[in-house]
Amino acid sequence: MVQKTKKMTNIVLFGPPGAGKGTQAEVLKVKYQLVHISTGDVFRYNIKNQTELGTLAKSYMDKGHLVPDGVTIKMLNAEVEKNPDANGFVFDGFPRTQAQAEALATLMEEKSSQINAMVALEVDDQVLVGRLLERGKTSGRADDANEDIIRERVAEYYRKTDILKEFYKAQNKYFGVNGVGNIQEITARLSEVFDKL
Ligand code: AMP
Repeated sequence: MVQKTKKMTNIVLFGPPGAGKGTQAEVLKVKYQLVHISTGDVFRYNIKNQTELGTLAKSYMDKGHLVPDGVTIKMLNAEVEKNPDANGFVFDGFPRTQAQAEALATLMEEKSSQINAMVALEVDDQVLVGRLLERGKTSGRADDANEDIIRERVAEYYRKTDILKEFYKAQNKYFGVNGVGNIQEITARLSEVFDKL
């Protein structure tokens, strides 16, 4: 029997902390029937369940720093492998470093697939800090509660993550979208990009 390879659509939903990636990924996964993987959510799940990975991740997350690439990549690979029948994935909060972007490309290649696009939510820094402080009142997230940690997360984004735009631009896969507005407006802007893929 000839094994057919299903064509997947895989999107990196990108942007600094507080850009609205998680909110939009939840809407888009339903609309486009994709599996949503948020590395931040997986780390928080592990913290809640007091796993070894959770304890390690917490020591970085509480400072607003990135969790090391080795463990993060291994975890992401495992999450993808849990979904062998997926139509595709929305990656939220991954990749965040050059090494992660390269590992993701390799993983997709192994599945005879690829990342189709990086769709980035563009939001000014002043708006981000305000949004995260606001979210901190209800999210229960330790890293949203303290302005210094929030600023460190934004700084970490500019140190290590923002350059990934160039990685995807070089492959003609970068799409920037205005991330300021209400949830429906932003979904509509993102959908314009998704519908063309
Ligand atoms: P997030 O929920 O995406 O805002 O992530 C919360 C925290 O989890 C980050 O500040 C990092 O400490 C950690 N984290 C999430 N995703 C990654 C990643 N891809 N690489 C390294 N650390 C991550």
